[in-house]
Amino acid sequence: MTAASEEVHAYRYCPVCAASLVTAIVGERDRLTCPAGHWTHWDNPLPVLAGLVEYAGKIFLARNAAWPEKTYSLITGFMERGETPEQGVARELKEETNLDAGEIGLIGAYEFIRKNELIIAYHIQATGEIKLSEELLEYRLVAPEKLRPWRTGTGYAMADWLRARGLPVDFLDWPSA
Ligand SMILES: [Zn+2]
Repeated sequence: MTAASEEVHAYRYCPVCAASLVTAIVGERDRLTCPAGHWTHWDNPLPVLAGLVEYAGKIFLARNAAWPEKTYSLITGFMERGETPEQGVARELKEETNLDAGEIGLIGAYEFIRKNELIIAYHIQATGEIKLSEELLEYRLVAPEKLRPWRTGTGYAMADWLRARGLPVDFLDWPSA
């Protein structure tokens, strides 16, 4: 069972009238919906911002406290209401690393179907002094030519950024976060 379908089953009652939701075809797909038509669980993917952070000529990779050893990835986070994606990724950078975003450039949008998310990835030129939040355990600064992307959304963003710079793309054999 995928994470997305588990998520669907977490919704049981209509938020308007508290009737039990039923499965019905809405918009050409099976969805959980209120029998009185108040509410449908559309289950659309949620946008996630990712930052490929360049700091002093190197790429900043961080290990989340919840991840296994040697698992490093980009800075990621959800958008807040009322902010642009560029503001959001700069805010996440500040919260998680204390670094300040300078130039921010879009790398691209990437699927993360397993978590029902859409990754919007940016390259960020960052300055300041690194102070990790409690969410992050440790970090590495890697020379761009030594980066090894992984075969999920944020890794594909890294690969596209490397390609755009004319650098070789040498994927890791194992998936990462
Ligand atoms: Zn209802």
